[in-house]
Amino acid sequence: MAVIARIVPDVTGVDKVFDYLVPESLVGNICVGDRVRVPLHNRNVAGWVLQLGDTTTQFSDVDETRLLKVIKVLGKGPSQEVVDLARWAAHMWVGRLRAFFVAASPATLVAALPGSRYTQVSTRKKFDVDAQTIDAVDGAGVSVLRRGPACSPRSLLLTAASKGPVLVVIPTLNRARLMAASLRESGLSVAVMPGDWAVAAGGVDVVIGARSAVWSSVPMLRSIIVIDEHDDALQEERSPSWHARDIAIERANKLGIACILVSPVPSLRALHGVAGSVASLDPATEASHWPQIRVIDRRLDERWSSSMLSSELIEQLRDHSRRIVCVLNVKGRARLLACGSCRELVRCDVCEAAMTMSSSKQLECPRCANVRPAVCVKCGSGKLAVIKAGVSRLREDLAAAAGRRIDEVVEVSAGDPADKSGYDTNGEVVDQTKMLFVGTEAALHRVRDVDTVVFLDIDQEISAPRYRAAEITLALVVHAARLVARKTSGGIVMIQSMLADHALLRGLAVHDLSEFVYEEMARRQLMQLPPYGALAQVSGTGVDQLADILRSNVLLQVSATNKDAVLVKSADWEILANSMSDALVAASTRGKKTLRTKTQIDPPRA
Ligand SMILES: [Zn+2]
Ligand SMILES: [Zn+2]
Repeated sequence: MAVIARIVPDVTGVDKVFDYLVPESLVGNICVGDRVRVPLHNRNVAGWVLQLGDTTTQFSDVDETRLLKVIKVLGKGPSQEVVDLARWAAHMWVGRLRAFFVAASPATLVAALPGSRYTQVSTRKKFDVDAQTIDAVDGAGVSVLRRGPACSPRSLLLTAASKGPVLVVIPTLNRARLMAASLRESGLSVAVMPGDWAVAAGGVDVVIGARSAVWSSVPMLRSIIVIDEHDDALQEERSPSWHARDIAIERANKLGIACILVSPVPSLRALHGVAGSVASLDPATEASHWPQIRVIDRRLDERWSSSMLSSELIEQLRDHSRRIVCVLNVKGRARLLACGSCRELVRCDVCEAAMTMSSSKQLECPRCANVRPAVCVKCGSGKLAVIKAGVSRLREDLAAAAGRRIDEVVEVSAGDPADKSGYDTNGEVVDQTKMLFVGTEAALHRVRDVDTVVFLDIDQEISAPRYRAAEITLALVVHAARLVARKTSGGIVMIQSMLADHALLRGLAVHDLSEFVYEEMARRQLMQLPPYGALAQVSGTGVDQLADILRSNVLLQVSATNKDAVLVKSADWEILANSMSDALVAASTRGKKTLRTKTQIDPPRA
């Protein structure tokens, strides 16, 4: 009998697994997940052990005499449990196994794991536990916890750690580091991912990190906590576009442990998963974790169609004691239309996206392709006006309204919002001594110690042609709320809108989004969009060929988008994954053209 290892090569573009013989000298020293060196196509490459088998069973369909040998074991890799999770994820996100092994492996070679560093039970028993969640962390299954933006998750994490090792996923590495330092002060051993990979795998009380931390190998794991589960930073932007929330839920279910999803604004996905049952603090305490949110109805302003400076905003700007950030996404702005008589914003009656005027003078929806005559649905007027809010002279207008010199208004230039380095795109540090800033949402990451955040025109976000536009807007407002929430001077988030009676905005003003969630759920159900269905986006070379195959599948609905891509809808994620993989296989064997399609399961911006 000889041992056989099935290997995932660490080679870009290679999508297959290969079987190798394990030489006598390595038998007993090789585990599933290990990083190894193997010969492949006349060179030596690194790879991971996916499975181990032997020649007495039908494990390999390659004849033993033709198998090459594993050269050596290089170091430790993901545990068997994480490898099984990666295999599930590769199937569900129709992605390559290699991508998941990379996320689950240490950045450098780890020859051996250090010993465990658990804190004594006597120390952990002394923690101030969060009475509301103690049963949830001790049990199994998914629960959703709503806590306002200024509420620290610290006591929740101590509660979980008092019961045994906990894995914590939080949107940014910076927040992971801060929380780790705070937990260490309570005597807990903490591994911050990805740097402390070996320490985590050796055994600690808390493993914490950004989205990839969900792939950490953690012995004796007792619970998984996802902080700010609504945040899009938890989803991988590249393909396979796995979401840490979904991985956490599956992992906890497989292990029979608790998965706790925490957010000030739980996502529709999370709420759907627990049938709307949410644990929250009493309304007064919850409200105390929110700053004041003021929604300003731009329709009431005389200059609504030409200026973004409402009288409330001007009053705020004149208070020179406050540090104010004005947010406006200048790039990719749509030309919004409003009714000239009643000032109602022109939106799609099916999906709520802002509509545009077609060349044939009809209203068109860029999100769902709905078409209707160019009249106001509210009052029937045919007099529609383009809102020409003065973006070009905005900085001058703000300076004039605030009674400040123009050089006192800092423009934070557009850049990658994920770049939270404190520098703008020109590599310059934002001048933190100034009091008034204007820029894209990137400004929210670059300016510190803010009293007021003003969304000059939130309608661009709410009515964007994406099905999750309202949820993405909500995440943006939460970000602003957190920025100002701890101000003793009374942090304020001002939201200027022509949609002031939108359930999202009314809900934000009173910190109660139940009506918004109810309406949005109904809309998603009607349109069979997540969480009521599964969605994928396919683009790239050969997309037409693939789309033809997908269209012949009765379990799928295929529609074109305006971006050389097709959207594929299905009743659930399992059916979608199976159908997509089958179609990819069929397209690659059938087609003459080379297939270079990109499949995004659960596309975040579709
Ligand atoms: Zn009207
Ligand atoms: Zn529509």
